[in-house]
Amino acid sequence: MTKIPMTTPLVEMDGDEMTRVLWQIIKDELILPFVDLKTEYYDLGLKYRDETDDQMTVDSANATLKYGVAVKCATITPNPARVEEYGLKKMWKSPNGTIRAILDGTVFRAPILVKGIEPCVRNWKKPITIARHAYGDVYKNAEIRVPGAGKAEIVFTGEDGQEIRQTVMTFANAGVIQGMHNTDASIRSFAESCFAYALDKKQDLWFATKDTISKTYDRDFKEIFEQVYETSYKARFEEAGITYFYTLIDDAVARVMKSEGGFIWACKNYDGDVFSDMLSSAFGSLAMMTSVLVSPKGVYEYEAAHGTVQKHYYKHLAGQETSTNSVATIYAWTGALRKRGELDGNADLMAFADKLEKATIDTIEGGQMTGDLARITSMEKVTVLNSQDFIKAIRQTLERS
Ligand code: NAP
Ligand code: MG
Repeated sequence: MTKIPMTTPLVEMDGDEMTRVLWQIIKDELILPFVDLKTEYYDLGLKYRDETDDQMTVDSANATLKYGVAVKCATITPNPARVEEYGLKKMWKSPNGTIRAILDGTVFRAPILVKGIEPCVRNWKKPITIARHAYGDVYKNAEIRVPGAGKAEIVFTGEDGQEIRQTVMTFANAGVIQGMHNTDASIRSFAESCFAYALDKKQDLWFATKDTISKTYDRDFKEIFEQVYETSYKARFEEAGITYFYTLIDDAVARVMKSEGGFIWACKNYDGDVFSDMLSSAFGSLAMMTSVLVSPKGVYEYEAAHGTVQKHYYKHLAGQETSTNSVATIYAWTGALRKRGELDGNADLMAFADKLEKATIDTIEGGQMTGDLARITSMEKVTVLNSQDFIKAIRQTLERS
């Protein structure tokens, strides 16, 4: 069989722990036999990030700006325990945070629906896609541990020397403070990509903040969304028969739980972090969700929404069998290959991505799945496969199709 040729390389960002193990098996079993794969490889494994003083992460993001499409494996975000475990030079920042700060943009996360895996919220009939703003807020904050009594202020100094100053708190005792920012340009591009995506999918767009409490910060988000909608999208939304709906974040959460689904939910960075995990686990499993960063610079980064599945990795290291779900990581590859195909006019590559996704779904619907899905499926007779055999089963389905 001749392999599908590629013209432009994908930026390949390797990662850590169990997902790094899956990464290699997915390539060996599901990609390399079928595609003449071209990638520019960046090893974002924690050891190599540490060796390169995290330059590797910055280089991989810049390569994404150069080539346009990246596929990323889950990576460890160091905490004190990881600094100790890996003997790190320092507690490096979240690679996703670093990459998103360079690319800017919005992360779209949609559940992968499979017959036999019903959402645990009974009234959810259609997928809910989260659009997560990927820039700023708490992910690019400045924090101070306040040692004792004193005054905390925020100060803005303009280039012209103009000063704006506000007291945050007069401390009587120890505490903590935090400074966050966002930019109008980033919020506007977030809004633009959400409206464009909703129009493309012909689904309603919901957006929520806490503008009643955060009368300047969150209100900026609300107003920019309104401006973008009124000036560029209102007419097109009406024509498409879809709506833009703004409400407060707590009201949005209550309504999401009672909804039928079938809409795009635009979330500020932190809300998106939290609610995408809630949605993916309620729709089935953390590993049954796609995730793509769409940058206003016109580039795309595909990833799995879950982490490195540390507990499974330690079992794997101890020589025990694991049953880790590779679907989200497979979909990161298919998403990236399809987008690369689209940009390069490579119809065969796009068709291959579709075929691999279908083989993945067909394998599960045929009763072969990993333990996380077997625990929640309504199917009667299922075969629980280990991490490797699940990927091999998908290959068999793919080769039969
Ligand atoms: P996690 O890797 O998402 O795993 C949490 C739990 O969810 C697992 O223990 C497992 O539950 C279940 N799970 C997640 N993915 C699964 C899969 N593919 N198949 C089966 N079960 C799955 O989160 P974590 O353990 O909190 O974080 C581990 C590391 O990942 C951390 O170092 C964190 O920094 C990093 N992280 C990276 C990213 C990213 O790069 N995108 C995102 C989040 C976290 P059971 O143990 O019950 O089977
Ligand atoms: Mg998260």
